[in-house]
Amino acid sequence: MSIASTSTPVRVRAPGKINVFLEVGCREDDGYHQLATAFQAVSLYEDLTAEHAVGFTMAVSGSVDVSAVPVDDRNLALRAARLLAAETGYRGGVHLEVVKQVPVAGGMGGGSADAAAALVACDALWGTDVGSQELHRLAARLGADVPFALRGGTAIGTGRGDELSAALARGRFDWVLVVNEDGLSTPEVYGALDRHRERHHLDIAPARKTPAVDAAVLQALRAGDAAMLAEVLRNDLQAAALSLRPDLAATLELGESSGALAGIVSGSGPTVAFLAESPEAAAELQAVLDAAGLDALLAHGPVPGARVIG
Ligand code: ATP
Repeated sequence: MSIASTSTPVRVRAPGKINVFLEVGCREDDGYHQLATAFQAVSLYEDLTAEHAVGFTMAVSGSVDVSAVPVDDRNLALRAARLLAAETGYRGGVHLEVVKQVPVAGGMGGGSADAAAALVACDALWGTDVGSQELHRLAARLGADVPFALRGGTAIGTGRGDELSAALARGRFDWVLVVNEDGLSTPEVYGALDRHRERHHLDIAPARKTPAVDAAVLQALRAGDAAMLAEVLRNDLQAAALSLRPDLAATLELGESSGALAGIVSGSGPTVAFLAESPEAAAELQAVLDAAGLDALLAHGPVPGARVIG
């Protein structure tokens, strides 16, 4: 064990994300797709505490339904801890406590946030001190969305979403998120998109070119202009998510006719994200959606990536 390790538990907070733009390119031979996305980290947080233990164990609780979250080595947070230990030669273990706010299988990268939080927490707890470049490299091995959860803020993701570059962003964007207990499986949503494109022979024309984030999206983020961003929100997975969950169309319609600047399915869904013009407008929209029996949460972005908070 390194002399720099700490005996007190380490607490790390990591954010969920919304893809304000997601263009999906063609399917590669290994089944993955080339993407171009603009990520925004938002104020639904995963809080993770790491403490010394003999083996690798964890527990999960939270304000969302966590019954579908595994607490064994299928969990991305435990896999992150094991990966860091293996890469650094650390010989002890860890116990992780995760308190989730990000909906499970909701298209907001909750598992990825947990993995990023576990990397940061174990690195501090164990004193392995691998540095941010190595943390990023390990994050990319765990999953395409994990590097962004480490970094937070606003960023452009290319490749599989894990090759990040900076995006200038100003101001604050207010969101109302309609969450859903019945999650959607990301691979299933991609499968629905592939089938749709095959049926319509779309794999050749638009999907063949290298995906890129629209300049108008970058401009709206740079200006901190919610109305401008609302005009250019795009998610290529939205139609596929709607084909698997047709009820989301009514949610989108209700939000858009009740004061939202625009609505979009978040990532692979089923979370629906509405952009509001102010915190007050967001609160009003939340009340309308709540009254309609939906589970609507307030969030804002951009917020920082995984960081030690105690
Ligand atoms: P994506 O990053 O693919 O958009 P998501 O946000 O839709 O993911 P997650 O909540 O991250 O969905 O997890 C999807 C599935 O991964 C869950 O149904 C669960 O079985 C598994 N899983 C593994 N580790 C975790 C974790 N730490 N938290 C939540 N789910 C996890």
